[in-house]
Amino acid sequence: MPYRITKNCNQCERCAEVCAQGAIDRDKDYKFFIHKNDCDECGECVKVCPVGAIIREE
Ligand code: SF4
Ligand code: SF4
Repeated sequence: MPYRITKNCNQCERCAEVCAQGAIDRDKDYKFFIHKNDCDECGECVKVCPVGAIIREE
């Protein structure tokens, strides 16, 4: 069940700062995304996102 960053992201960077796995990165368009292979699904990024932009897909 991977986590994903949606279009609601406002680029605040909080998720990238809290991710202990360093799994959150910027793509070529400077938007944040999650490296699925690095994510351990801890859910910490979801807790700090102020706009609910990170979802867990079933
Ligand atoms: S769920 Fe945890 S490991 Fe995965 S991207 Fe979020 S903070 Fe990083
Ligand atoms: S915490 Fe939420 S709004 Fe901030 S960069 Fe991450 S996904 Fe975007």
